[in-house]
Amino acid sequence: MFTEVKGKPVCLLCGDSVSVMKEYNLRRHYETSPKHTDKEKYKNMDTKQKLQKVEELKRSLKSQQAMFTKAKSQSMAAVKASLIVAEEVAKSARPFTEGEFVKHCMIKVCDAVCPEKRQLFLNVSLTRNTVAERVQQLSTNLKQQLLGKGKDFIAFSLAVDESTDTSDIAQLSIFIRGVDSSLCVTEEFLGLRPMHGTTTGKDLYEEVSRCVNEMGLP
Ligand SMILES: [Zn+2]
Repeated sequence: MFTEVKGKPVCLLCGDSVSVMKEYNLRRHYETSPKHTDKEKYKNMDTKQKLQKVEELKRSLKSQQAMFTKAKSQSMAAVKASLIVAEEVAKSARPFTEGEFVKHCMIKVCDAVCPEKRQLFLNVSLTRNTVAERVQQLSTNLKQQLLGKGKDFIAFSLAVDESTDTSDIAQLSIFIRGVDSSLCVTEEFLGLRPMHGTTTGKDLYEEVSRCVNEMGLP
């Protein structure tokens, strides 16, 4: 009453997997698991009936697994879709609440074009909290990518600009252009730093230094 799934023995009666494919382990599981309520029935079956039962149970296990795989790929697609929308929201500098409006439109379009897929669209979370979280994830990922590339830079240059935002706070923007040993050039935005105190040359220098250190650049 066992089948092999990805190298592991899986019990056909309860769906649990047993760690080792040895007769002792399988037998112990078969005889002791409290989930095997049908066990007594199999005792009176002949070999042919038993084999039939095994095939039947194998089929139902397979279809369960297929359903699980489908559900998993659908939920991954929903996460991917919400990341894609969050990226668009961030790139166009719209408020995170715009996700809710996009979702509203999406459902309307879905109802008109493919109403049978409504649930799939509903599964895409675009609440403002989700959008904020996704933008944060994208930002962290981009930073990590840049950190990774920065390690290979054999030389880099910085470009720095300063201006004030709408609330009169000085903002320092820092850009980097780096080159690795295979002469692959990366040009990226390194950081935007609000300057709350004074903005003397020393203040700017210190902020740039801090930014460079945080990126682990020499
Ligand atoms: Zn079992």
